[in-house]
Amino acid sequence: MSCGNEPDVAPDGGQSGGEALMPRRRQVRRVDRAICQKCKTAKSKYIMHSATFCPACFESTLNVRFLRTLFPALRPPHSKVKDLSRPPLQKGNALIGLSGGAGSVAMLDLLMRFGLIGRGTGARADLTKGEKEVVWDWATVVHVRFEEDVEKETELQRVVEGWGLQWMLLKAEDVFDSGLRQRLGGTQDDGPELGVDLHYHDLPLTELSSSSSLTPREKLLSLLTALPPASRPAMLQSILDHLLTFTAATLPNISHLLLGETATRQAQRVISGTALGRGWALPLDLAAKRSTSGDVVQLKPMRDIGSKETAILCRLRELASWNERRWFLGPEGKEKGKGGSGTRSIEGLTERFIAGLSVSHPSTVSTINRTGDKLVFPGETGSIASCPLCESPLEPSALDWKSRTALTSLSASTVTVPKNRKGDGKGLGLANMLCYACLTTLSRSPIAKHSPSLLGQGSVPLPLWVSAHVGRGTIEQYLIGQDEDEE
Ligand SMILES: [Zn+2]
Ligand SMILES: [Zn+2]
Repeated sequence: MSCGNEPDVAPDGGQSGGEALMPRRRQVRRVDRAICQKCKTAKSKYIMHSATFCPACFESTLNVRFLRTLFPALRPPHSKVKDLSRPPLQKGNALIGLSGGAGSVAMLDLLMRFGLIGRGTGARADLTKGEKEVVWDWATVVHVRFEEDVEKETELQRVVEGWGLQWMLLKAEDVFDSGLRQRLGGTQDDGPELGVDLHYHDLPLTELSSSSSLTPREKLLSLLTALPPASRPAMLQSILDHLLTFTAATLPNISHLLLGETATRQAQRVISGTALGRGWALPLDLAAKRSTSGDVVQLKPMRDIGSKETAILCRLRELASWNERRWFLGPEGKEKGKGGSGTRSIEGLTERFIAGLSVSHPSTVSTINRTGDKLVFPGETGSIASCPLCESPLEPSALDWKSRTALTSLSASTVTVPKNRKGDGKGLGLANMLCYACLTTLSRSPIAKHSPSLLGQGSVPLPLWVSAHVGRGTIEQYLIGQDEDEE
């Protein structure tokens, strides 16, 4: 396989190569690139996969690709895959993730223009008049704020409410807010709040006193400050994923979570996921359809459309979008300089690499995605324990694997667990419960070594979902295991 621009024959017809090679005959299809290659009449304006399109044909091609990804996932099992007719009304409402990037903005626009989402009135279409039935009765659109951007949020809210949908704004720090579940209409209790001490390789857990006066925002910043800059994007991604799946599972009557992840983003996920050690559960991350907690089905209807194409679509339809993914949420003000924009992280590097390579090799994204589609998840979903941090199924013994493959500097001061932690029930290691990638994410920032923790004890607060996950029986199991070892 080659993706370079190798010439088929030498410029002089293959005569100078020493050996006389049979010149390869190749039929050259002459096309007039000034004319749209679909309708053959209009003037072409865009190039997509080496073919030229006029604006109308460009839109209709993307529409077909959108519906071809979305519709099969909504049909009952065993129906025809290539059937482009409308799927039946779904049993619940939709939750749409809207970051403001071209992918999610275009997805919302496509969903509404095709009339797939109703106004929540329960009105049914009059089929005798040629009206089409909606697929979801109503939808809530959720935007997760990492950094405040009033202009963007106001515009997104205006668009969403203009379509008659419900607007919901969540903040990244809400993962530390015990009131979030109640706000979303949930009833369960989150359990005790836990902190983790990143100074030790087994990541001992400590129960934080409820009197801790830190605000959720301060807790988030204290966690991010303690992590090395390269780990922050992975943590922020886990927070985003959790907030979306948690909202979908907690809000009443939600059956589908729709994400506007584009083909370009999928390709970045393949490369950065593999590099970060997420390869084991990666096929699940890449799937167009995935069941998440609370019987909610997660769909990615834009996964066949590249980010450049979605950007053109937004431009054609005059939709505002904000495409820069900013990974530098962290200690205020300090990270915006060198490397702070995420370029030092694997995620940031991958994004730049794929964007750069796509310029000279337009099939980069589809080649990576075709390879990604061949990956098969080796375990069985549902029966395996999941990682408390990323909530993906847990591959067996990540810690053993890491100890065999990784070079770690184990100075005496970091290996020994201090005496006061032993046997007092506080020395529970989070490291045993994490997947390989999250184990790497939760390493301590070398800069944070000298800065005292906000909690004063070296522990940093963990998001509430991690505490809840760890709390659900894992502590007991671990304690039993520890007792047996000691006997
Ligand atoms: Zn055309
Ligand atoms: Zn994990």
